[in-house]
Formats: sequence, structure tokens, C-alpha cells
Amino acid sequence: MTQTLSKAASPAGQPAGMTQALHGERGAKAEQWLIALFVVVPFLAIFAAVPVAWGWGLGWHDVVIGAVFYAVSGHGITVGFHRYFTHGAFKAKRALRLAMAIAGSLAIEGPVLRWVADHRRHHQFSDQEGDPHSPWRYGDNTKALMKGLWHAHIGWFFDSEQTNQRRFVPDLLADRSIVRISKAFPWLGAVSMFAPPAIGYVWGGFHWQAAATAFFWASLVRVGLLHHVTWSINSICHTMGNKPFSARDKSGNVWWLAIPSMGESWHNLHHADPTAARHGVLKGQLDSSGRVIWAFEKLHLASDVRWPSPERVQSKLATA
Ligand SMILES: [Zn+2]
Ligand SMILES: [Zn+2]
Repeated sequence: MTQTLSKAASPAGQPAGMTQALHGERGAKAEQWLIALFVVVPFLAIFAAVPVAWGWGLGWHDVVIGAVFYAVSGHGITVGFHRYFTHGAFKAKRALRLAMAIAGSLAIEGPVLRWVADHRRHHQFSDQEGDPHSPWRYGDNTKALMKGLWHAHIGWFFDSEQTNQRRFVPDLLADRSIVRISKAFPWLGAVSMFAPPAIGYVWGGFHWQAAATAFFWASLVRVGLLHHVTWSINSICHTMGNKPFSARDKSGNVWWLAIPSMGESWHNLHHADPTAARHGVLKGQLDSSGRVIWAFEKLHLASDVRWPSPERVQSKLATA
């Protein structure tokens, strides 16, 4: 059995950053600003483009199609790939299980088997040797952290060594339908790219311009934004944020990513209590993924939901 591990380990067997974790305070503020800019600038660029394009290169059809595809593919990742397939936060009826595997594939973040295998490995080795995407991989000085952030955000995705699926997802490999959906990933990716322009074309009265703007906004921008947000959980939420809960890694709660990340940026709680169905457990912490699971439960599509009880939340607090 071969298991892929991070290559940049110190002699002590830990990534360089982890061995010097106590010496990372200097310049921390400047680094955090750089990191925030790294995530915020693409958002600003898109919002700046909206008024420029409005009326000729962007219309409310594109916004609606983009928002629907963002919500479906995004919750396919957060509720389906993450909370359900990776962590088993609830049980799902067969039809919902397959629907979530398909919906998550529409986010074009890799086939379900690969996504789940990588993420289970992330939890097993979070911010230690073996984590597929720790921003602390190269050390904790500014230069090493910038390199690590790039790796955690996007670079890791292109690692030639892939996570061993037989070790990390034997349960999913035993489900032939899930294996088939995982193998159909390129086709589902094509559907995700070409369905928005097809819908835009019909809705826009069979004009090619309507197809073109829907393709730009609801396919390209939507997938780009979703990737950026999902991977910000790996990069941003492992370098900054509040840490009200006791987790053995560097995960933090980042409030300003809560809405676009559909509740996933309450990442400190998630590492403290990985199987919980809701990540935004404190007052005012928005978590649309938790809401979706709640709706599935009400519709009797989901059962045995692991809702974090107030006592459980209390016991996970760092001060408890
Ligand atoms: Zn994490
Ligand atoms: Zn997780």
C-alpha cells in the first residue's frame, strides 16, 4: 500500500513551519493583510466589472443562472462532497446520495473519489506532514508562507502524486454508482460549462449574445469564483481567523467568507468537531449548508443528522 506524503519534511519529520510554530509572530499582521488581499482582489475585480458590463455584456438572466449554478454546485461540494461523503454528518436516501455526487461534480473541483480522499487525508494530517494542502508546508517566515499559501490554494491540485483511494475511500469504492459518477467527471464538467449558455440562449430568445454572456458569467466566472472560495478554506482558513475552539491544527473561523463559502469558513469549529452537520454553531454565524441539511431532514431525505448540541459545542470551546 503506497501512501503519498508531503515531500518538504524537516529532519524531525514535520513540515518546516511546524517545528518553528512558536516563532511566527513577527510580521504576522503584514502577512495577514497580504493574504486578505490575495483573496479579496479577484472579488473586487468582478464587482468592478459588473457596472461596466451591465446592459450589454451582463443582464439579470446571467445573474440568475449564475447564482443558481453557484448554489447547486457549491452546496454539492459543501453538503455533498464535504459534510456527507467525507465526514458522514448525516445519512441520505439513495436518490439524494447520487444527486449530491452529481451536484458536487458540477463544481469542477475533481471527481468525487479524489475530492473525498484528499479531504479525509487533510483531516488525518492537518497542518502536519501528509496534509495535501497545508499553507505551513514550507515554513512560517513571510516568503515560505506566501509559497505555502499558493500551494494550499491552487498548487497542491497539480501534485502528480495522488491520494491513495483504496486507503482513504474504501466505502465509496464499494458503491458502483458512485464510482460511475466519479468516472463521468469530465462529462459532468462539460454539462456544468455548457448548460448555462444553453439556458441563456433559450431564455434570451435564441440570441447567440445571450448564450455568450451566460457562458462568461454563469460558467467561467461562477466556476472561477467557486474554486477560489473553496480553496480559500484550505489557504486562508488555515492561516488566519478566530480560534474559539480547541483544534490540533491552525484552522480558524473567518467570518467574511461565511456567505460565499456557504458556512465552510467556520473552519475552526469544523476541525474541532469534524462530523458535525453545522459549522456555524455560535450566535449569528451564517451557515447555508447547515440550512440545506436541515431542509433535507424536514423532507425526510436525510436522517441521523449529527447536529451539534449546546453541550457538545460547549465542550469543544478552547476555554472548556
Ligand atoms: Zn482544514
Ligand atoms: Zn472537513
